[in-house]
Amino acid sequence: MSSPDTLRHDWTLDEVKALHALPLTDLLLRAQTVHRANHAPDSVQLCTLLSVKTGGCQEDCAYCPQSSKYETEVHPEKMLTVDEVLSKARQARATGSTRFCMGAAWRDAKDGPAFDTVLDMVRGVRGLGLEACATLGMLTDDQARRLAEAGLTAYNHNIDTSPDHYGEIISTRRFDDRLQTVARVVKAGISVCCGGIIGMGESIDDRCEMLRTLANLDPHPGSVPINALVPVEGTPLAGMPRIDPLELARMCAIARVLMPRSMVRLSAGRTDLSREAQVLCFMAGANSIFYGEKLLTTGNPDVLEDQRLLSDAGLKPMPPYASSDPTVQATRDKGPQPKPGELLLSARAIEPAE
Ligand code: SF4
Repeated sequence: MSSPDTLRHDWTLDEVKALHALPLTDLLLRAQTVHRANHAPDSVQLCTLLSVKTGGCQEDCAYCPQSSKYETEVHPEKMLTVDEVLSKARQARATGSTRFCMGAAWRDAKDGPAFDTVLDMVRGVRGLGLEACATLGMLTDDQARRLAEAGLTAYNHNIDTSPDHYGEIISTRRFDDRLQTVARVVKAGISVCCGGIIGMGESIDDRCEMLRTLANLDPHPGSVPINALVPVEGTPLAGMPRIDPLELARMCAIARVLMPRSMVRLSAGRTDLSREAQVLCFMAGANSIFYGEKLLTTGNPDVLEDQRLLSDAGLKPMPPYASSDPTVQATRDKGPQPKPGELLLSARAIEPAE
């Protein structure tokens, strides 16, 4: 076994499968050992996600109610204005979030007024003292560079599943397209947020291969969202059974062992987890959550419930730019700085709930 802080990018599928096959208690011990060698064990990053352009996406991701290929209750909406987004960002900051993620349901970002508006949103969010993240689909090198100049801290672009299972889930783009955008984001000096989803009919080997792909990226993604499918009526995956929380905890633990310094983010599907299951995921090395009433279009636990959970578990919110990803730290000084009077509320925002 390598030292708990060794960074490797040469994991084999057999090694990842061997981790997956460990008794859960052994895997948790291993993950917790790695976690403590690399992170403050009592800190959880709070991120808020806002859909700034909802619905009407040209892609056919089988899990997504925003795809224009499926009849769902999500309908195309106009893009939010910069003021609307910054108002939501202020609310997120007031409840203790330190990262604000903006999602647009685009296959790829097109140059023009909409992209320029996103750049203004990024500048505005950074001006509030928050870390800024965006997920806009595939990017060109130039767009990645412009986002970096605007002060973007991180870019989310998930690989979703294994290369072998990818064609079962998405037919409108290739797995390699994802990796290309990830490489462009790295080149632009933006932290990569890249993870996947379980519960989409994939095999255990697919799950291991997905994690192996992420772990063999160099550098490792700064954040690794681990999602459980939220089956949505009207999408091809609407009838999939819910994931057993222990499987989610196992994925968090393996991600932690493979990518010691990354933030492992407990993402979609958290509403289905009991408090105990969420704490188990924190034990497994998850140290980031989406926080706020909604993910892009699906539900998320209530803010007060989350505050109570963190308080009862003795966990505290992580300050901004405290992630061990050096790219995140480097963006702190490069982008727009908080204006006077816009300094970030500290962890004081999270008081034990009544
Ligand atoms: S997941 Fe993203 S790219 Fe896929 S259909 Fe939904 S919005 Fe479009």
